Amino acid sequence: MNDFTGKNVLVLGGSRGIGAAIVRRFAKAGGNVAFTYAGSKDAAETLAAETGAEAIQADSANRDRLISTVADRGALDVIVINAGTLVMGDPLTLNSDDIDRMIDVNVRAPYHASVEAARQMNDDGRIIVIGSVNGDRMPFAGGAAYALTKSAMQGMVRGLARDFGGRGITVNSIQPGPTDSDMNPAGGPMADTMHGFMAIKRHARGDEIAELTAYLAGPHGAMITGSMQTIDGGFGA
Ligand code: NDP
Repeated sequence: MNDFTGKNVLVLGGSRGIGAAIVRRFAKAGGNVAFTYAGSKDAAETLAAETGAEAIQADSANRDRLISTVADRGALDVIVINAGTLVMGDPLTLNSDDIDRMIDVNVRAPYHASVEAARQMNDDGRIIVIGSVNGDRMPFAGGAAYALTKSAMQGMVRGLARDFGGRGITVNSIQPGPTDSDMNPAGGPMADTMHGFMAIKRHARGDEIAELTAYLAGPHGAMITGSMQTIDGGFGA
């Protein structure tokens, strides 16, 4: 297991699901971990008590709050930008404000947080965003706007990898497929449909995504940058 003792780690959107698994992974490996959440105060406090990580209420859709939260952490070694929302349905009837809020959280926030983190980040730092295999493949109707947000991350990752590579900072996206969480429960109504697209017909667990995150953040990830690391049970194959 990679050792993150003494490393400053910030996870945006860490109170539940994949983000919580990532918080646990870095905290277990000795990291000095902080994480943000939007509304789940109880879940955040429970996770903070369990792991020793610091919970910070900061809505990623609030740009000023987001940027000041990142800046206040000082010289980070690792930032994981996991906070994301999913709005699906018929584009002809979806609420436009809901779509724009998703774009704020899934696209604008990762860009501004990445840039702000890089200002003070230590050399050889790690910027990791949680994208989605839906950035590559959207095999059913109703997911256009969500796919848009996850495809947008891909261009950002490629570009920022070149902007910050001179300092040894890597920038990558992890692209999960179906992963058990409140957003996408393994027993949810869409599960069988999603498993039909997969070679390994089950939801991933958060700890499987967290392990890949820790690999990218560790010393063996130093030459991986500008890349999409897909972990999807073959959903996109
Ligand atoms: P969950 O809905 O289970 O958890 C989302 C987490 O993000 C929560 O901690 C939530 O905080 C936080 N969050 C959401 N919006 C904001 C915000 N505006 N500001 C700060 N924090 C916020 O989602 P998952 O764990 O399933 O998903 C995590 C990421 O993985 C997302 O980016 C998602 O798109 C991506 N993903 C998920 C897949 C899946 O199948 N589950 C597949 C592919 C990608 P709070 O508790 O306070 O609401």
